[in-house]
Amino acid sequence: MRINDEQLKQVDRQIKRLIAANNFYGKMLKDAGVDGVATAEDFEALPFSQKQDLRDAYPLGLSTVPDEEIVRIHSSSGTTGVPVIIPYTKKDVEDWAKMFARCYEFAGITKKDRIHITPGYGLWTAGIGFQAGCEYLGSMAIPMGPGNTDKQLQMMQDLGSTVLCATSSYALLLAEEIEKRGIRQNIKLTKGVIGSERWGEKMRARIREILGIELYDIYGLTEIYGPGIGINCKYDTGMHIWDDYLYLEIIDPETGKTLPDGEWGEIVLTTLVKEGAPLIRYRTHDISRILPGECPCGSTYPRIDVIAGRSDDMMKIKGVNVFPKQIEEVLASFPELSSEYQIHISHLDGRDTMRIYVETNGSVDFAEMAKKVAERVKSKIGFTPLVKVVEIGVLPRSEKKSKRVFDERYD
Ligand code: ZN
Repeated sequence: MRINDEQLKQVDRQIKRLIAANNFYGKMLKDAGVDGVATAEDFEALPFSQKQDLRDAYPLGLSTVPDEEIVRIHSSSGTTGVPVIIPYTKKDVEDWAKMFARCYEFAGITKKDRIHITPGYGLWTAGIGFQAGCEYLGSMAIPMGPGNTDKQLQMMQDLGSTVLCATSSYALLLAEEIEKRGIRQNIKLTKGVIGSERWGEKMRARIREILGIELYDIYGLTEIYGPGIGINCKYDTGMHIWDDYLYLEIIDPETGKTLPDGEWGEIVLTTLVKEGAPLIRYRTHDISRILPGECPCGSTYPRIDVIAGRSDDMMKIKGVNVFPKQIEEVLASFPELSSEYQIHISHLDGRDTMRIYVETNGSVDFAEMAKKVAERVKSKIGFTPLVKVVEIGVLPRSEKKSKRVFDERYD
């Protein structure tokens, strides 16, 4: 996949707008001697943009339009340091709602559906994105926000919610609660739209098994509109990305070189029509790959594979690069284990050690299980972790994103 003529024209227009606005990126591009793009080679020579730039431009240095055209801002706090502020124009807000509505349509959701929205509302882009797309499509929004499980389940039953929007952790928590209370027959859910978190096949299978619903993965990030820039279709062969709004590349995170379709690397996105805060070649740090070939659904929107991790989640242990996904795949090969786990990396007596916590039920010999898991991890990544087996339910469940990797070497 390479940038096409229409997309090139759009990027060229964005670059000229940025330079004319003389804002943060406008100055940066000018300093780099860029004044536009005419060919794919020009495009691939453009400098990347990074989260740190967005922080440096705090609060409104990214804005490319006069103040009176900004109708909303969103912010991503991140775990450290200065937040990032993204300004949106009226058109940006509408474009995002259209993209999100398209996501719902790809999931087979219609006006007749009642969409139960549990992601949070506020400065970040989660809840409001799900909401705007729902209203644009014409479905009924049930804007719950997170928390208060009793009320969630009450409303779900009384209003007959048919679609659940949640993080995977919260969807699992609600599913387990529905099972525990024995109220599945009162619940009308048929679909789940799951966003903003990497999740494994095991967790999916568990949610599907309890609720018996179809699950769809939604992709997005605050810097680029928010969630809703792509979703898998019913054939579940990767997430289609809306390339009429965004240009998608996969790069080698070390060298910055664009990689051919099929190869794993970091997702880089360029906004094609965004007005408030256009971003050129923005490094997402999400690891995936472009899936070659056509989807059986017939859509020509390009597809990416499941997010395999963050380029900054890559753990270098005893000189070996390890992604959490590799450990997750090993754990998923044991039907006795639950979907929850934690990885702790520490530095003891001059050596890196990895401890993995897993959950199982009381019918399994814990010591035997720990040994089997440790052996299989060793055969996959080349060194032996310490494995601790605990009872199901001991590891924390979260309403937001579950933290699973704890690197204690630099604490
Ligand atoms: Zn498809």
